[in-house]
Amino acid sequence: MSLAANSKIPMRALLAGARRKQASLIAFARQLVQVESPSDNKAAVDACLALAAARGMQLGARVKIHRQTGFGNVLELRFGPRKSTLPAAKPILLLGHLDTVWPLGTLQAMPCRLRAGRLWGPGTLDMKAGVAMAFTAIEMLTEADLLRREIVLLLNGDEEIGSTVSRPITEKLEKTCSSVYVLEPAQGLAYKTARKGIGNWRIDVKGIAAHAGVDFEKGANAIRELARVIEKVSSWSESPPDSRSESRPESQPDPSTHMNRGLTVSVGVAGGGTKTNVIPAHAWAEVEARIVRRADGPRIERKFSALKPIDPRCSLTVTGGINRPPMERRPGTVRLFRKAQALAHELGFTLHEASTGGGSDGNFTAALGVPTLDGMGAVGEGAHARQESVLVEHLSPRTALLAAMLIS
Ligand SMILES: [Zn+2]
Repeated sequence: MSLAANSKIPMRALLAGARRKQASLIAFARQLVQVESPSDNKAAVDACLALAAARGMQLGARVKIHRQTGFGNVLELRFGPRKSTLPAAKPILLLGHLDTVWPLGTLQAMPCRLRAGRLWGPGTLDMKAGVAMAFTAIEMLTEADLLRREIVLLLNGDEEIGSTVSRPITEKLEKTCSSVYVLEPAQGLAYKTARKGIGNWRIDVKGIAAHAGVDFEKGANAIRELARVIEKVSSWSESPPDSRSESRPESQPDPSTHMNRGLTVSVGVAGGGTKTNVIPAHAWAEVEARIVRRADGPRIERKFSALKPIDPRCSLTVTGGINRPPMERRPGTVRLFRKAQALAHELGFTLHEASTGGGSDGNFTAALGVPTLDGMGAVGEGAHARQESVLVEHLSPRTALLAAMLIS
């Protein structure tokens, strides 16, 4: 790939611009954090999205709100020329979410503050700082009149609970775009080029209740049967794809990545029974599987649907399936990463590539074949944890890199 075009990108000016705007970037990130936005509270999420809409309008965005009932709205902001002045340049889709896993009132125990070189608070890293970075990158490019193609910034409010309502909107828009940049936090210092896919199942076991002392033989213990099922599904976890003897993955993961496990199956929640002296007639479990390769989806789905009870007096009901396909490491994404790596080098830092077991909306866009680069948001620690925080020193260089990627 030729990087000659990149020489036209004023990297130093972008970095200097990002540094000049760092205080306002942080101020806007703090504003977003101060408006708490748990996914399950539509009014709260919409209030946070309204802040982003207002910021977009300040920057001259064309604003469209995809109104939802029950979930937060989805905000679509378009920047730059409606028609690209470059030949055949489709828009770039910038993808983010403004919902968080934190309930209302979290700010009392986890106030949003700048301390020890970090911005702390619920939703800072995942991913309000990343959203603020995107606005700053767009602001810089707009002011310098560098936007030659349309940029679509799509912000949803249901990512942390599975993107039920935003997924079709994301998928429809991405088909009109050349590439997707996801504003999720970096993996350490790395951008993400692969993510595991995720499936969820519920298993219900029906047995036969009986008095555990008087009629022991008449009972069929649903919990015992469930225990066997749990052992079975857990045994489906596999070692790394590289060491597998069966079909080779279509693109071998980069050895530098962190995808150290292949398919994993984990029983996360289980229950059953009523009293110790009653042989339980019902038991259940909720199971999650994560897959590296798309082909593993139907394979694991078939295994779940083929589950049979050992005790013929018990019956199983199994529901569920894959809901986030894996983001596989595809050539288009690798090309985007290499470009980002070269631009980062010009900015004076080394960018690494990583993969993760966690899912994001990038799973959906990558699965449809649109080159998707993820982890382009903030650097920090503690997403979904008490110590959630963003490292301030990385904000400006990464914002400059994001800006460069939008015009390269
Ligand atoms: Zn996130």
